[in-house]
Amino acid sequence: MADVIKLLPDHVANQIAAGEVIQRPASVVKELLENAIDAGADRIQLIITSAGKTLVQVVDNGSGMSATDARMSLERHATSKIGSADDLFSLTTKGFRGEALASIAAISHLEMKTKKEQDEIGNRLLIEGTEVKEQEQIQTGDGTSISVKNLFYNVPARRKFLKSDPVEMRHILDEFHRVALVHIDIQFSLHHNNEEVYNLRKGNFRSRIVDIFGKNFNEKLVPLEEDTTIAKIHGFVGKPEFARRTRGEQFFFVNGRFIKSAYLNHAVNAAYQDLLKEKEYPSFFINIDVDPSFIDINIHPTKTEVKFEDEKSIYAIIRSAVRRSLGQYNIAPAIDFNQEAMNFPAPPKNVHVHQPELRIASPRPKVPDLGALTAQPIKPTRSAVDAWDSLNERLSEKVTAPEPKQTELEVSIALKGVQLLGKYIVSENLNGLILIDHKRAHERVLYEQIIRDLAMNRVPAQQELFPITLELSKVDADLVCDHLDELNRIGVQLEKFGKSAFVVRGLAAFISSSQLSETLDEMIDSIKNSGESTGMKKMEALAKTLAKRSSRRYGVTLSPDEISWLLEELGNCQESNRTPGGLPISIEIDLAQLERMFKKGSV
Ligand code: ADP
Ligand code: MG
Repeated sequence: MADVIKLLPDHVANQIAAGEVIQRPASVVKELLENAIDAGADRIQLIITSAGKTLVQVVDNGSGMSATDARMSLERHATSKIGSADDLFSLTTKGFRGEALASIAAISHLEMKTKKEQDEIGNRLLIEGTEVKEQEQIQTGDGTSISVKNLFYNVPARRKFLKSDPVEMRHILDEFHRVALVHIDIQFSLHHNNEEVYNLRKGNFRSRIVDIFGKNFNEKLVPLEEDTTIAKIHGFVGKPEFARRTRGEQFFFVNGRFIKSAYLNHAVNAAYQDLLKEKEYPSFFINIDVDPSFIDINIHPTKTEVKFEDEKSIYAIIRSAVRRSLGQYNIAPAIDFNQEAMNFPAPPKNVHVHQPELRIASPRPKVPDLGALTAQPIKPTRSAVDAWDSLNERLSEKVTAPEPKQTELEVSIALKGVQLLGKYIVSENLNGLILIDHKRAHERVLYEQIIRDLAMNRVPAQQELFPITLELSKVDADLVCDHLDELNRIGVQLEKFGKSAFVVRGLAAFISSSQLSETLDEMIDSIKNSGESTGMKKMEALAKTLAKRSSRRYGVTLSPDEISWLLEELGNCQESNRTPGGLPISIEIDLAQLERMFKKGSV
């Protein structure tokens, strides 16, 4: 039988390699930005057209390349950054594999213009799918400009799977943020479809965060600083009250490189223990500097994962550092912190590292909730004691009087309930005792009200407002701009005011204006999470978020009128047993069950 194995032609090998490195326009952005940084640039422009599907261009004022290097840079395994495997352990550059440019060139139309400072004349190269179409000398500024056009033009399967422009642009912004956040000595600009999105001046870490994510971040950040023999940690963590419902702004950088690490995420979350509500995520921007020989960044082709030689110690250091900084800024209650534990030397391998002990003296105090339950002003007429009395009366009546004929709906609202533990309304129905979670009940009532208004195209009742201005991050502002209509229909009427600020023109009566910023944050998250779903699905998701956010908190005492309003409204709901998110609203203990419990010998 004839031999069947043959070497793949270069352009095919490059296309295959490209599949690993370049998944979408954002991958090109990452590689080109990293190359510009490695070239020592202090000014980098990123120019994007159609979310990178038409053009990704990076212009830098870095070292530039000679004519030969320009040509070489497009070959696979061509790199100026390492010469031997040993160099891998002392890497100070972003790149080292020498395959990014070769990969990109294999699947796009690539134009490179480059000139070294000391050269009189520069070079221009035009490549289409690995083939050099043109090479010429040109007049050009110092540094390099690389334009990548028509990405995946020869890989239709890839091109077909690209997402909508907003989604691809989000990926690009993510990459841009990750790079721009750590390189504070570089001036970055970003243009999309000829519009300036960012122009980031050189500055410090805080100013960079604020320039990217919005002025309101200034008050949200608590500095973090920890110097140990194993790692140097510095950066910022978000105050717990600004935590969000999605893992939005969470960044770890190891030696200036963005990384993802579920393990280290856990360390931060552990530090926030008791400070966050369920399913809330803190913002953080944490730099971890370690000796390059302590890490291995080679385990993932796109290099967002890192293997630490001593992961457990890094975990312990981060957890303690975050905890301490929250404590110092009086966010966490008094913390019993053992400072000694921070400066331990690198322990030998295979030895279990004890995490520094932390004890919290008292739980976070509850913040009183001032949000109103309904749009209608409620005059408290009777005290909770009265309501108890009324329940007792009804209960005793029930034993003697014959059962009145009632429909189920009427039954469930037959009684004004009493509140228990700031959480449950105690009431009765024909079968026996019923406990109703007031927050969940209110959530259901609000949700159905919102959906009803939407279906009938009714603008929700508005409350009178002092003008409120909200400052958002550029990313969130764009998202809000794209959804002004939806937000308006659901009761949040916003008007753009400057680059990324909005004035609140109107607000549905049930939304607490004092919590508007947080409510809008969650609605933004909900838009992000509902992805590309459109129309009613997106509106339902928004309605759910809004209902949940606006529902009356636990721990507040409801007036008897509020309770009866709530029970009545719940009785009118299409679905009164579950929250829009599917959680039970009430539980029932029937009379027979109750009586069994009271039987002799049952306790
Ligand atoms: P790597 O970055 O892993 O070395 P690349 O394919 O990204 O591999 O780049 C190959 C080489 O091309 C780099 O090692 C560098 O020498 C050169 N190069 C790429 N981009 C630039 C740039 N913007 N300025 C100067 N040199 C560059
Ligand atoms: Mg590179």
